[in-house]
Amino acid sequence: MEDGRVFNFAAGPSMLPLEVLRRAGAEITNYRGSGMSVMEMSHRSKLFDDIFQGAKEKLRRALNVPGEYEILLLQGGASTQFSMVPLNLMSRTGKADYAVTGNFANNAFQEAKKYGQAREACSSADRGHTYIPAQSELDLDPEAGYFYYCANNTIYGTEWHYVPETGPVPLVCDMSSDILSTPVDVSRYGLIFAGAQKNMAPAGLTVVILRRDLAGHELPITPLMLSYQRMIDKDSMYNTPPCWCIYMLGLVLDWVEEQGGVTAMEASRREKAGLLYDAIDSSRLFTAPARADSRSYMNVTFRTGSDELDAKFVAEAAQAGFLNLKGHRLSGGMRASVYNAMPLEGAQRLADFIRRFDKAN
Ligand SMILES: *Cc1c(COP(=O)(O)O)cnc(C)c1O
Repeated sequence: MEDGRVFNFAAGPSMLPLEVLRRAGAEITNYRGSGMSVMEMSHRSKLFDDIFQGAKEKLRRALNVPGEYEILLLQGGASTQFSMVPLNLMSRTGKADYAVTGNFANNAFQEAKKYGQAREACSSADRGHTYIPAQSELDLDPEAGYFYYCANNTIYGTEWHYVPETGPVPLVCDMSSDILSTPVDVSRYGLIFAGAQKNMAPAGLTVVILRRDLAGHELPITPLMLSYQRMIDKDSMYNTPPCWCIYMLGLVLDWVEEQGGVTAMEASRREKAGLLYDAIDSSRLFTAPARADSRSYMNVTFRTGSDELDAKFVAEAAQAGFLNLKGHRLSGGMRASVYNAMPLEGAQRLADFIRRFDKAN
């Protein structure tokens, strides 16, 4: 690859588009004649305000976010939302339903129990989180303040291929690892959040998209920094926002738009993941643990069944220029993350490498 770069299949932080990195590099010491870096600018300056409002507008455009939804640009990572969601949204009924389909969903579920009656509406733990339960398997409480799920399970390589029907109960969704990779009907959700470091920007920024009427009901103990209403009132600037990451988000959104937007990203991820699943399915050695109807188009998990062979694969792949293919410690095996910035060529070449390794072993 150009600039001596590798195909980095890391689950997050992960690849950013080369064009974006180059642009940021060119502007790093002197942003558009201002004589300073975005990193050195006052977050209250006109110059930064343009960057900030621009990033929000581009995100609104990219995901077709309706007018009654706020976009918040926060810190604390996706994991802070595991607390912020129940603190702000649970008090309406004191109850919430959680779909426990992986590690991050379970972390959110455990955290929510501190603030009210969090209930498991379904779980895929019985089969090692290798599948997504069907709509008919969801045990829904009509009095839940919200229904929580994680759209793409980054660790296990499974993905919801449908939006749950929960009637009047608002949907809350962790889209950390698939946001901007597929079209979303935002109007079906009460709240969407995503840590930026998988598909949007460097680590340090968390995007929250929420229906305005859901804010303003936080528990009295809610720390100021964790109040959606406070952040709405202050346009995400109660304190200093993650300025550099917001600037990078704007550049990434420009890039996504140039590529054809989220529909083009959807086609791209299906093509990349499809190449990898084809190579895995047609091999003798490799299997994909995720059930076929639940496979992720972002994080492709696979294994040989032998820890030694898995380690050999990861080591030889690294030598061939395919980095960070070792699976998460909870699931073992291998994982290839094909986020938006992974070029098609990376997936093609990794698929070839899987075939060669299969023949040779
Ligand atoms: C990475 C990830 C998280 C954790 O994100 P942090 O920003 O590190 O807190 C949560 N949910 C999903 C789906 C993820 O992929």
